[in-house]
Amino acid sequence: MAATLGPGATRRLLKRLRDTMAAGGSAQQRLDKIVKVIAGELIAEVCSVYVVRAGQVLELFATEGLKPEAVHKTRLRVGEGIVGEIAENARPLALADAQSHPNFAFRPETGEEIFHSMLGVPILRSGRAIGVVAIQNRTFREYADEEVEALQTVAMVLAELVASGELVSADEMLRTEDAGLVASERIEGQKLNEGIAIGIVVLHQPRVSVRQMVADDPAAEKKRLREAAAGMRTDIDRIFADAGLEEGDERWEILETYRMFAEDRGWFSRIADAIDTGLTAEAAVQRVQEDNRARLALVSDPYIRERITDFDDLANRLVRHLTGDRTAAADADLPDDIVLVARNLGPAELLEYDRRKLKGVALEEGSSTSHVAIIAHALDLPMVGHAAGLLSRAEPGDPVIVDALGGQIILRPREDVRDTFAVALRARQERRAGYAALKDLPAVTRDGTPISLNMNAGLVLDLEHLGDSGADGIGLYRTEIPFMIRSTMPDVVEQTDLYRRILDRAENRPVVFRTLDIGGDKVLPYLDVSTQENPAMGVRAIRLTLDRPAILREQVRGLLRAAGGRRLDIMFPMVAEVAEFDAAKELLEIEIAREAKRGRALPDPIRIGVMLEVPSLYWQLQQLLKRVDFVSVGSNDLMQFFFASDRGNPDMADRYDPLSPGMLSFLRAIARDCDAAQTQLTLCGDMASRPLEAMALLGIGYRRLSMPFPAIGPVKAMVRALDLPPLAKYLDEICRLADHSVRKKLGDFARDHNIPV
Ligand code: PEP
Ligand code: MG
Repeated sequence: MAATLGPGATRRLLKRLRDTMAAGGSAQQRLDKIVKVIAGELIAEVCSVYVVRAGQVLELFATEGLKPEAVHKTRLRVGEGIVGEIAENARPLALADAQSHPNFAFRPETGEEIFHSMLGVPILRSGRAIGVVAIQNRTFREYADEEVEALQTVAMVLAELVASGELVSADEMLRTEDAGLVASERIEGQKLNEGIAIGIVVLHQPRVSVRQMVADDPAAEKKRLREAAAGMRTDIDRIFADAGLEEGDERWEILETYRMFAEDRGWFSRIADAIDTGLTAEAAVQRVQEDNRARLALVSDPYIRERITDFDDLANRLVRHLTGDRTAAADADLPDDIVLVARNLGPAELLEYDRRKLKGVALEEGSSTSHVAIIAHALDLPMVGHAAGLLSRAEPGDPVIVDALGGQIILRPREDVRDTFAVALRARQERRAGYAALKDLPAVTRDGTPISLNMNAGLVLDLEHLGDSGADGIGLYRTEIPFMIRSTMPDVVEQTDLYRRILDRAENRPVVFRTLDIGGDKVLPYLDVSTQENPAMGVRAIRLTLDRPAILREQVRGLLRAAGGRRLDIMFPMVAEVAEFDAAKELLEIEIAREAKRGRALPDPIRIGVMLEVPSLYWQLQQLLKRVDFVSVGSNDLMQFFFASDRGNPDMADRYDPLSPGMLSFLRAIARDCDAAQTQLTLCGDMASRPLEAMALLGIGYRRLSMPFPAIGPVKAMVRALDLPPLAKYLDEICRLADHSVRKKLGDFARDHNIPV
């Protein structure tokens, strides 16, 4: 029999379901009634509801037509039998002759042998099956598409009941091994800030839960849909306008795709069809989205799969417009161990969360230079980005591991995996506690050489770690970072205020302020630097501020005022020749004279230094050393220009080694010249933060290092175990080798001498 079922019939069915749901009684009683209603309305002899329980088992929870004694007894593993297959694939299955299906699993206690046809659909929650609703008929019935759709709509209403936690406790649904169909998933990403976090998924933009599922007036619902769609489009246009993007920018392309989808007629007409079946506009959007996901998930083309997330995002936006629910997760009641999951996050958004609860961040997009990564760094928050498909797979409440050492996110980890990471996390915490115990001990080598360990900073937030880290001071304050997370250029007053706060927080410890190092990978949205073929070698840092002296002068003015009466250490980045240093110093002197003329208290002393990060400067080092109070080696840029190897290109990351005889010899030559001139020398690039590299630096003559605060403990532990003279001698030998790297040799040296690296 090929029964047909128009939207009118589905509407009636939905209305009856709503009445049943509202009638009161226990969830089980309501479910018992619901299966009767469905069977009656869909002209089926059987209607059964299975719910996913602990251990990936589907349990028969209610039935009309099968033997009642089978309820709560009949169980199928996910993947087992037709019902198990529907759950596993999260796809409907309509079979005129179910018993001849290869996956048919006969359960004698149900008495189902007399029913031949079967239509089952998954009960979905964000694309994942949490149960199955099935109808059966004695005849070999061919179920029509409309019937499949009607049952899918019913399943949506049932999803609310199942997910309510009244049938199976929410706790059981969430527990790792009980996550029903939800197998553990590993998503590869990029580590944006190191560490390990174990916690619970909190979606930054929570999916809105639709409470009102059924509506009587389709015309009114369609009007609401039109209005919400218009609101959503306005929002998207505003995003375009705010971002000020141009064609060719890849973000523009992403947004353009969005705009295209937001106009998708097919999408809207399917939503309108779903409204015709008696759903509210918001329920219809969700219904179509579940369907979209199920369909697109089967497609292997990665581009199309990516689009699931776009549609998810749009559907979410649309539902938000419809329900008027615009709250972000930060305002909600949250668990104690949050792992924040988002497509992308702005720095301010991240700061809205309670730091004590926030354990880690997982992003679908994001990059290591993104602002949110800078903040995560300052907050010491493990963060993985570039995790494709994360949003469509993570569900609020899912247990999750952010492995920002290995660059992966593990959703719903298996017990043993979780245990392994918990052990690693504990070991990390214990190591840190061990380093914290070193905080007040001096950084002196075993042969009595004092080493100055300093920290790098960029935000006021960073200064919170200054005391705990045991650092002597701030060896590198990257002034561009506060500029980068703002939307407008700070004026002199704002800058003065900021630098003053930094100095106040540092108490009496010295802070080396580096003037703006903009350009390359550091972009200011409000400063127009024309597109350059090769920005790392283009108009950046001191070049840019010498071209636009007003920027440098204002910054220097802010620094002079902030440090009035106190010590000021100021240094210029990316200086390639002495003439550039002279030009920058001249601007500084103009400002000093200007401040003095106005009777303002000047800093005392004012120490002027330079970053050595462009190899050419080494060939004017003698002339430079006569002019500066200190030199700081920026090994990140120095390495990139020394080897002509882009520091931001992951394919180049391991090609050359800073622990190569060439690079070490170069660094040693700089150290020797500074030593001979008795000029203070620091190394403030990433090299200083790794104990083995730091050990090598001490061996070639460096006595001051500056690094991110988490590195200070491990480096200090290395320093205190080190006997310098034999290392210096050994380095002299191995710097002469023709090897690609002396990393292994230095590692062996450390092991042989019990130096923790
Ligand atoms: C460097 O280049 O090593 C350095 C410290 O500067 P930045 O990383 O900010 O370019
Ligand atoms: Mg640099």
